[in-house]
Amino acid sequence: MIVGYNVSNDIINTNKTNKVTAILNFFKKLISSAKNEAEPVSTQVRVYSRSEHNISHSQISENALKVLYKLQKEGFSAYLVGGCVRDLLLGREPKDFDVVTNADPEQIKRVFRNCRLIGRRFRLAHVHFGREVIEVATFRGASENQQDKQFLNKEGRLLRDNVYGTIEEDVWRRDFTVNALYYNIKDFSVVDYVSGMVDHQAATLRLIGDPETRFREDPVRMLRAVRFAVKLGFRLHPDCEKPMHKVADSLSSIPSARLYDESLKLFLSGYALQTFEMLRHYGLFQILFPSTENCLSVEEEGFPRLLLVKALENSDNRIAEGKTVTAYFLFAAFLWESVQVRAKEKMARGLVEFMAYQEAANEVISMQVKSTALPRHITLAMREVWSLQPKFNARFGSKPSRLLTHPRFRAAYDFLLLRSETGGADPEVAKWWARYQEADENEQRKMTQPPRKASGGKSNRKRNYRGRVKKNATEGDV
Ligand code: ATP
Ligand code: MG
Repeated sequence: MIVGYNVSNDIINTNKTNKVTAILNFFKKLISSAKNEAEPVSTQVRVYSRSEHNISHSQISENALKVLYKLQKEGFSAYLVGGCVRDLLLGREPKDFDVVTNADPEQIKRVFRNCRLIGRRFRLAHVHFGREVIEVATFRGASENQQDKQFLNKEGRLLRDNVYGTIEEDVWRRDFTVNALYYNIKDFSVVDYVSGMVDHQAATLRLIGDPETRFREDPVRMLRAVRFAVKLGFRLHPDCEKPMHKVADSLSSIPSARLYDESLKLFLSGYALQTFEMLRHYGLFQILFPSTENCLSVEEEGFPRLLLVKALENSDNRIAEGKTVTAYFLFAAFLWESVQVRAKEKMARGLVEFMAYQEAANEVISMQVKSTALPRHITLAMREVWSLQPKFNARFGSKPSRLLTHPRFRAAYDFLLLRSETGGADPEVAKWWARYQEADENEQRKMTQPPRKASGGKSNRKRNYRGRVKKNATEGDV
């Protein structure tokens, strides 16, 4: 069923005090889309009835359904929107379920007892069901018309926006057409204002509106473009691809805490390797990890690139096998080469190894946090993984058993494997540690005994009167 874009519809959904603004908004919107022919926005809403799409209730979280029905019962409109609709249409299990409604946050709070309002930039409601949280947002108002509530900085980035609106306005605020499909609980239809369904079927990611403006407004959309393209196997529309190189630098204006959150989504969702390649292709990786990019460009064919690639590959494989992956391990891999380069320079200038690595780690971490903030527990774990690496060389005496009981042993050992597989550590050492972990106590004791010289040969080691090797005479690092 195709329904014409309807002025009265737009206005009926707006409360009386906003009617005049809504009329103005509507005409401004029409004029601005007429001005920009590249805008893929249709003036018609296409409603896909229940029989025209493949979303079934059995795929939707029970709690999300409860929220939708409750809002409807209270007289509000309620829709699923965003990634969950996009993923349901693909037959995938959504990561989370987002609800939008015409109820404002205070009204939502009154409907649900288990609800908390969050957010300063835009007030949202979180409805809690044990560990599951359903996010409920009020429709957002139109961007270009309500300058009193919206702030753009001089680069065109959106700083604050907190205006409520109608579904017809809300749709313009979303990033990609495939993320702007609304599943209506009233009649189980999918409501599409921006030809999102056509793009979805064509596996295309297309920004709503003028791509360069939308990227400048929020440069994180470039990261989202990469993330969705990789995760969904969708192609970026050429119009969206075009401004990426030009706009890439603006990503550096985003607060580092937000970039940290985004980088977790980028690299911990099972497609890290492809994501890394694509981010590099668009010049975005260098904004997130500048010192890593520097090392990569110096030794494109050498092992620094391989270590990182291998780390990303392993991480993807682990996720595919249902195993856990940790952020600190990946960050340690991203920055290891920079730490090494710096530490070697310091040692060449006469600093002892331990100090050189400590200083290098401090410098590399304090540079990195300017791009992506790193929580303290993450940097602490990264430092541990790095500082345990030289300790794997000590294979005699009590040091191996002490290292084995270190809380960070497992991660440090995995890191050693990574280094040995990519030419950065002696594979014999890695093999020794594999055997050592498997061995029983007796065997472990044998493995850690220092090699004896052939009998009769003169030893230059000091011996005590019983002929035992003096403590500390030969133990230690190899
Ligand atoms: P995911 O599968 O990662 O959850 P998602 O599309 O649902 O993907 P969310 O971050 O959960 O991503 O956002 C929900 C929806 O909110 C998006 O689908 C999109 O419509 C809108 N949205 C989120 N971030 C932005 C943004 N930076 N600019 C415009 N719209 C956005
Ligand atoms: Mg989502």
